[in-house]
Amino acid sequence: MKLSPRKTKIVATIGPASESPAMLERLLRAGMDVARLNFSHGDFDGHAEHIRRLRAAAQATGCRVAILADLPGPKMRLGKIEPEPILLAAGDSFVLTREPLVGDARRASTSFPRLPEVVKPGDRVSLNDGIVLLEVERVVGGEVSCRVVVGGELRSKKGLNLPGIDLGISAFTERDRECLEHALRCGVDAVSQSFVESAADIEAVRAAAAALGAQPFVIAKIERAGAVRNIAEILRAADGIMVARGDLGVEVPIEEMAILQKRLIAQALELGKPVITATQMLESMTASRLPTRAEATDVANAILDGTDAIMLSAESAMGRFPEEAVAMLARIAAYTEAHRPMVPRREAPPMDAPGTPARAAQAIGSVVEQALRTVPCSAVFVPTRTGATARSIARYRVAPWIVALCREQGIARNLQFSYGVLPIEVEGRSDTTSASARARSFCREHGLAGEVAMLVDGPSPSDPSANHRIEFLRLDQTTSPGSVPSVSASKPGTAP
Ligand code: PEP
Repeated sequence: MKLSPRKTKIVATIGPASESPAMLERLLRAGMDVARLNFSHGDFDGHAEHIRRLRAAAQATGCRVAILADLPGPKMRLGKIEPEPILLAAGDSFVLTREPLVGDARRASTSFPRLPEVVKPGDRVSLNDGIVLLEVERVVGGEVSCRVVVGGELRSKKGLNLPGIDLGISAFTERDRECLEHALRCGVDAVSQSFVESAADIEAVRAAAAALGAQPFVIAKIERAGAVRNIAEILRAADGIMVARGDLGVEVPIEEMAILQKRLIAQALELGKPVITATQMLESMTASRLPTRAEATDVANAILDGTDAIMLSAESAMGRFPEEAVAMLARIAAYTEAHRPMVPRREAPPMDAPGTPARAAQAIGSVVEQALRTVPCSAVFVPTRTGATARSIARYRVAPWIVALCREQGIARNLQFSYGVLPIEVEGRSDTTSASARARSFCREHGLAGEVAMLVDGPSPSDPSANHRIEFLRLDQTTSPGSVPSVSASKPGTAP
C-alpha cells in the first residue's frame, strides 16, 4: 500500500451525518486521522456508541484513528426566549439578568450567574457569534442593563461572549469533569478543553484524568483573548493546541484573525507541540459538493502557516457531504505540501531543564534534521517511547515520512496529531539488525526506494534508548540486515 501523498493530519467531527458504521469507514478511507466527539452536543450513550463504532471501523479498514473528546468548558448562553426569534435594533435597551425567566425583546436570562460581578459600564457583550453587540450601561444587583450597539436576530440558547473580560472561573467545570470521566471510561485517546485561560486550566484536566488513572493527550482550545495573552504558559502545559476560530473570532477583532493564526501556529511549532486549525474551513460544504475558492485557499494557507492538522466541524458532523469534505482537505493538503517553498529552519528554543528527556529529544531532533539535509531520504525510522522524539523531528517539517516506532498503542494514537508522522507499533529493540530488517520490509510494503535513515538504539540492553546513532540504509543494495553501508556520528541522550 502506497503512503499518503499528504502529511497534514485531518480531524473530523462526528455527528448525525457521519455516525453510521459505513460512513465512519468511508471517512477513515478518505483520510480522517482523528475523530472528534463534541461533548457540547449529544448524550453520553451516543458518544459511547460513536467510540465503539470508530474502533470497529478502524479495525475493519486497517486505518489508525485517535479519538478526541472535546469538553464544553464554561460556554455562556442566553436562556430561553419566547416567542422567538426576537429582533434587536441599534439603540434599543436590553437587560441581561440572573433571574431564571423566559426572555423577550426587553430582557433575557443567561447561563452565567456571575455576569453582574464581572462586567462594568462600557464593557461589550457579544451575542450569537458576534451578530449582536451590546454595551453595558449599568449594573444593579443581578441585572445588567445594556444598549444595543449592533442589532440583529436572537433565539434561545445563543452563545454569549465577553471579549477580553476575565471571568474569574476555571475553564474546567463540573460538567467537564463528568464528560471527561465518561470519555475516559469509554477509552478516548485525547481531550480538548474549551475556553482555556491559563496553564492552570490544563493542569486541572490532567489532575482529574490522573485521579482516574488516565493520561490522555491534552489539547488547549485557544478561543479566549486571555488564552492568547497566556499562550506561552499554556503551550508548555498542554500537549497541543487548537486554534478554535469560531469563538476566537468573537473574542478578538475579526480583522486580526489571520495574523493571530500565524502567530499561534508559529509558537506551537517552535515548541514542537501539534496545532490544529479549526472551524469553517470548508463551511459551504455542509450544503454543497464543492467548497468556495476562499475556503480552499484558507485550508492551503493554514498548511503554509505550518499547521499540523486541519479540522472539520459542521461539515462532517451535520453536512450533506462529510466524505467529500475529508477528501477535499486531503487533496488540498497534498497539492499544497508538494508546492510550498521549503519551510525555513527554526531552531528550537533552549530548554531550561538540563538532563531531562525532553531536552535530549530536542537535541536528537536537531541532529536528525541536519542529517536529512545532508542525505535526502525517503523515510526516517524513529524509535520513540513517549512520542517526543518523533515530534521533535516533525517540528522541522522534514521532507521524508517520520516512521515512529512505538511500543504502545496509546503513544501511536497520540502521534496522529503530528504533521508528517506515521506511527507504527513494534516490539523489541531497534538495534542495527532489527531496525534495518524492519525498515526494508516497511519500504517494500509501501513502495519506498532510495535511501532511508534510521535512529538506532545504542549498545546498552539495560537502557536501549541511550546513545542513539543515525544509520543510513540504501534500499536498492542487497546488503544483509547486519551490514549497513553508512553510519553517522552518534548523538548521546536518553530518548523519550
Ligand atoms: C471553535 O470555537 O472554533 C471551536 C472549535 O469550538 P466549538 O466547536 O466547541 O465551538
